Amino acid sequence: MASDFSGFLPAAPVIRIGDDGRPFIAGSRCSNCGNTFPGERMACSACCRRDTIEAVRLGTKGKLYNYTIVHRSYPGVKVPFVAAIVDLDEGGSLRGTLLEAEPDPAKLPPDMPVDVVFRDTGQTGPEGKPFVSYFFVPAQPAQAQGEA
Ligand SMILES: [Zn+2]
Repeated sequence: MASDFSGFLPAAPVIRIGDDGRPFIAGSRCSNCGNTFPGERMACSACCRRDTIEAVRLGTKGKLYNYTIVHRSYPGVKVPFVAAIVDLDEGGSLRGTLLEAEPDPAKLPPDMPVDVVFRDTGQTGPEGKPFVSYFFVPAQPAQAQGEA
């Protein structure tokens, strides 16, 4: 799977593309209370401090917190699909689409491990540039584990 997304447009404000072409989710972490949030924050919404927010890259491992199976959507959107909320292991929660999983509640257990992946959305922006977005996929066991 290609990981160089140089020249792509982020499909959501929390997505950044590094100088190496690798996308990541920008986040904010509060050094006072330790809470982590997707996107840039001026203040912590947990403890309300304004001077303790630092920019971080959110992790790419998480667990399925909750989901809904979408059966009706906009024209052109393939259904059914799984709209998920994922709690990231290193902090923060994201909403997004879970791919490569059957849209069947029996196969989507609570806390199912997932990976955050970045993919071409198949759509293009005003100058013809493609969009990259993040998605969730079931975690691949014992493969490409970077660290313990
Ligand atoms: Zn805080």
